[in-house]
Amino acid sequence: MLKEQKETAGGNELGGPLRYPHSCILWLQCDQEVLDHRLVSRVDTMLKQGLVQELINFHQLYNKDRLSIGAPHDYTTGIFQSIGFKEFHDFLMLNEEERESPEGKRLFQRGLEEMKLATRRYARKQLKWIRNRFLRRPNRPVPNVYGLDGTDPSQWDEKVLNRALSIVDSFMKGETPSIEPLSLENSLNNANNSEFCTVCRRVFIGRLQLEAHLNSKKHQKMERRVALAAPEQGVNLILK
Ligand SMILES: [Zn+2]
Repeated sequence: MLKEQKETAGGNELGGPLRYPHSCILWLQCDQEVLDHRLVSRVDTMLKQGLVQELINFHQLYNKDRLSIGAPHDYTTGIFQSIGFKEFHDFLMLNEEERESPEGKRLFQRGLEEMKLATRRYARKQLKWIRNRFLRRPNRPVPNVYGLDGTDPSQWDEKVLNRALSIVDSFMKGETPSIEPLSLENSLNNANNSEFCTVCRRVFIGRLQLEAHLNSKKHQKMERRVALAAPEQGVNLILK
């Protein structure tokens, strides 16, 4: 199936084409430091809302049985690989009394720090995915990505909501939004020599490559497809 996707028009070696070629992406962004801070305080909130008891209950129900019958603990499948479980393994292996001891408290604190670290790491991984998929590899069609700055919640309406509404409104009418999309980060060889096909949203190195592309079946097919797809527009919203 993967092979089939990659060979479909609009696909490349990394994956298949977009299911909805005529889409528009709104990317809610945030200053990295502010985001890190938010992620950490979210972990603290989870703690206040009973994270520990939840972990203990879960451990009691599932992993403990596995361990008692000699099976190894398993953090590689299902819920056990989710952030916040494996980080507390050493703590969870203690009995009730040990958990209250200084050593138990130390292990818990360590789990908490590791969970915060893992959460931040995961967020970076998501950002990297978005950049790579939509902004860094323009050798297959990608929709326009509009960045909205959600760093300051007190400016939410102005910086996020109103802009998002205006972009979507123009897009639905088939007009060009007055707000510029994020530019493609050209990681392909030499940026100075690059040519861009606006229909396929692909970058080519040199004029010759572009001309060859414009005459290709792939390009002409995409041109027809974009024209056909115009009336049924999809809007994707990426939240992080
Ligand atoms: Zn093209």
